[in-house]
Amino acid sequence: MKFRLSLALLALGSASLAAQQTFVRDPKIAIDQDYTAKIKEYTTAPYFSSPLVDYLPASKTVPTPKAVLGDVAGAPGRLPYAEEVYAYMRMLEKAAPQRVKVLSIGKTEEGREMIAVLVSSDANMAKLEENRQRLEKLGDPRTIDMDDKTAEALVQQSTPIYYLTGTIHSPETGAPTALMELAYRLVVDDHEYIKAIRNNLITMITPVIEVDGRDKMVDVYKWHLAHPGENWQPLVYWGKYVAHDNNRDAMGATLKLTQHVIEVNNHWHPQVLHDLHESVPYLYDNTVGDGPYNAWIDPMLADEWEMIGWNNVSEMTKFGMPGVFTHGNFDTWSPGYLMFVAALHNGISRLYETFGNAGADTVERELRPDEYARTWYKQNPPLPKTLWSQRNNNNYEETGVLTALHYFAANKQLFLRNFYTKSKRSILKARTEGPAAYVLPADDPHPGLQADLLTVLQRQGIEISRATAPFTVTLPVKRTRPRTDTPTATTASAQRDASAEHAGGPSAQETPKPPAPATKTFPAGSYIIRMDQPYSRIADALLDYQYWSPNDPQRTPYDDTGWTFPELFNTQAIRITDVAVLDAPMAKAADVRVKGGLQREASADRSIFLVNHNADPALVTLRYAFANASFDAAEEPFDAGGRTFNRGSFVIRNVAAADMQKAAADLGLQVTAVAAAPSVKTHPLRAPRVAILHTWLSTQTEGWWRHALDDAKVPFTYINTQQVSKDADLNATVDVIIFPPVGRGTDAIVSGMPMWGNPLPWKKTAETPNLGAEDQTDDMRPGLGWSGIEHLQQFVRRGGLLITAMDTAELAASTGLTPGLTVASRQRMRIIGSVVRSKMVDATSPLAYGYTDNLAIWCDQGPIFNVSNIFGARGGRRLGPDDGGNRPTGRGQQDDVDMPQGRAAIDVPQEPRVDPWQATPVTIEQLRNGINVIPPAMRPRTVLRYADTRDLLVSGLVENGNEIAQHAAVVDVPLEKGHVVLFSNNPIWRGETEGSYFLVFNALMNFDQLNAGRKLDPK
Ligand SMILES: [Zn+2]
Repeated sequence: MKFRLSLALLALGSASLAAQQTFVRDPKIAIDQDYTAKIKEYTTAPYFSSPLVDYLPASKTVPTPKAVLGDVAGAPGRLPYAEEVYAYMRMLEKAAPQRVKVLSIGKTEEGREMIAVLVSSDANMAKLEENRQRLEKLGDPRTIDMDDKTAEALVQQSTPIYYLTGTIHSPETGAPTALMELAYRLVVDDHEYIKAIRNNLITMITPVIEVDGRDKMVDVYKWHLAHPGENWQPLVYWGKYVAHDNNRDAMGATLKLTQHVIEVNNHWHPQVLHDLHESVPYLYDNTVGDGPYNAWIDPMLADEWEMIGWNNVSEMTKFGMPGVFTHGNFDTWSPGYLMFVAALHNGISRLYETFGNAGADTVERELRPDEYARTWYKQNPPLPKTLWSQRNNNNYEETGVLTALHYFAANKQLFLRNFYTKSKRSILKARTEGPAAYVLPADDPHPGLQADLLTVLQRQGIEISRATAPFTVTLPVKRTRPRTDTPTATTASAQRDASAEHAGGPSAQETPKPPAPATKTFPAGSYIIRMDQPYSRIADALLDYQYWSPNDPQRTPYDDTGWTFPELFNTQAIRITDVAVLDAPMAKAADVRVKGGLQREASADRSIFLVNHNADPALVTLRYAFANASFDAAEEPFDAGGRTFNRGSFVIRNVAAADMQKAAADLGLQVTAVAAAPSVKTHPLRAPRVAILHTWLSTQTEGWWRHALDDAKVPFTYINTQQVSKDADLNATVDVIIFPPVGRGTDAIVSGMPMWGNPLPWKKTAETPNLGAEDQTDDMRPGLGWSGIEHLQQFVRRGGLLITAMDTAELAASTGLTPGLTVASRQRMRIIGSVVRSKMVDATSPLAYGYTDNLAIWCDQGPIFNVSNIFGARGGRRLGPDDGGNRPTGRGQQDDVDMPQGRAAIDVPQEPRVDPWQATPVTIEQLRNGINVIPPAMRPRTVLRYADTRDLLVSGLVENGNEIAQHAAVVDVPLEKGHVVLFSNNPIWRGETEGSYFLVFNALMNFDQLNAGRKLDPK
């Protein structure tokens, strides 16, 4: 903290910063008396406002927000829909076309428009495109031959763009009205302070980022106004797919809102992206926040955060506004936040948390002691208790933003020069910082997943090249530290793990030889992500590994700690530091799709087609594209048509060759037509009827699953827990029920919300026209109930498949659905949104089709599975000679057998070795009247397990990982005629884990064949 503070002071001292202009109200400038009076009326105390916003300038030609709102911005009881906000922005454009331009920037998943509004002086707006082209050159210094003199001339001529984005989080409702009023001020106000902004800056505004969620939120708020004294609906849906996680999508860019903001960013080249949120009192400029900072940003950016953040606090503190601060608990590690579109594209990311009331009611607010305490970075803290209004919130948002805009405008050349320097350093990165490039090899066994990863990079605006000939590079010698067990792994169980790991071979005893530098030759067609391009930093951040030390002083990571995309996409990206890679023969690759097609064996009559299974999501698309055709899965690998096919590969009949040809091309799949089906054992591969099950508590995490199924064109019905509680014959309509993680635990899923108070409808009605698009209910409160559990159990017993993950797996395990599988409680383990290693246990399970060993999976605190052959037992191992020396006290050394005296020696039976992912073999004693012995065919079948403790961490934070190491991660539990599949990891997460999607897709297509390949225990 101290270090960072001094850094800030240094920056302020050394840079030639323009002095902050003091705002002085000019009595000659007419003000809108009515509007100004209302501002005063709705502000609950004078110190919750500032001289910048306690008046509104008058205009004879330009309408104020009142024209649309019927009242002032931030008025109680008034929350505009997105369309109303747009209508106002377009009124501004119409009234002052020389200063305002409204752009349509795309549509949301539900078809609503997104806009960006540009506001600046007449002179700036007249040369908007010329200016944009100058910023483009500064943003890509290759276009000016990296020439600093040319850049300086451009800096002198250019006007920077400051991009403000509002209400990405739908219950954070204040930004749209604040931004409407801000736009008005910037257009009409002739105070020197505002003119300095208008003349030196282009302000760009997207007043509503989450448009689908905004309209739902306004519906809910209006319902609340119409039902005084009643509780109102929690906002269970925001966008079509996800809620709060819409601000965790800046890596995968899976959602339309992220894609559109990236497009705007990469076209207009704004210097700042400033995202407006609401949570803590009263204005937390969380840009500075706390460490650890993201490790891939240009260090200059951290300095810019300090400069702007501290200026903001300083100016608002001078106004006497309490509760303004910039340090806090927010770490800036994950680049998943929307603002990181700027941070890793050479701009400046900023984020405000102001204090909102989740609506426009004026209400008494009571703070926690930690919220109103004075700290070293919060000298004028918020008040313990206060009457708070939406207008107060708008005052803070607008004052903060105006202060920042003014500071930025006053120092525009400094920030433009920084923008150029950061862009230039991103290009120099290949040779200065490294790496030089990442290579995605042409011979990757997962070309479809590779193409999907490249598509993510393309969405980020990253240039992709492709080698036109083979090339060779020197690989760096990896400096490895001597491997010891982690200091935290000293418990008895960890020692057991360690001894088990070392049991297989002598390698642990050998002295390691220092590795020699090696060269590697990549084939023609390999993709090269050069690090000498303007957006190298976002590519590096996505493709690299992350390490969060368990000893980091930051004990509460704000979000995921690891995200390595190539690992999670089950594809290779090799970090190359040898700059020779930059001279490899290559061409820009615009089209990264896989060239699919139909190959024909000489004698093939083209009625039998083979497709190799490599866990490419396109394979499930193919299955459903020909839902009525005959698909079979090979239960073993085989050779045919001159190539080798993996276990699980498709044997397809009853598809016309022309249709198959087209599908193969569209989906980027290699299909082989053969004369005769291979002799390998097969079973039918289905296109089952799938349902995704959701609660009324939270739909955000299952939303990512819906998105993945929609993306893969897997049709599904969308059902809720209340329907399941009433439907005693689920098998009539569905074969597979997917119950993705809820994040609330068993109690809440079963019970729902408390039944006191009034019903909470979530329905499309005249009163709430924007609700109910995804699903509807008369009352959100009831949960799954015990009848729902019973119906799910019946569904499985009759042959259905239930797929669960994380807390829904815990629900299944704790309600009798998974005989032999239990969940152990965590002790000191911390795995916070990390990438971890799995190991293959049973490659013959259909769940594992298309996979090889060592798949990386995304894990967030387990759960920890134990398996047993005994009903009601909780797993675990018998003590024995293998068990860390737990032999009984007696004669001899630790590994000797004790020898009772006074009788002949007898052989002590060797205790079978049992690992944590296995069940202890059934004993003769247990089989006597073995009521609780689970029949061999009904026992849990572990398919994937977590890796050993020392191999567990791939990226992120793993502390005390020994608690989950080696435990089962993906398990198939038979229950009479059906199955429950349980994931301890989350296989479908934020569009970042495509590599593990097929574990789920395999389950779907093999739902009635999951016992294939199973070897049963002898007893
Ligand atoms: Zn927020």
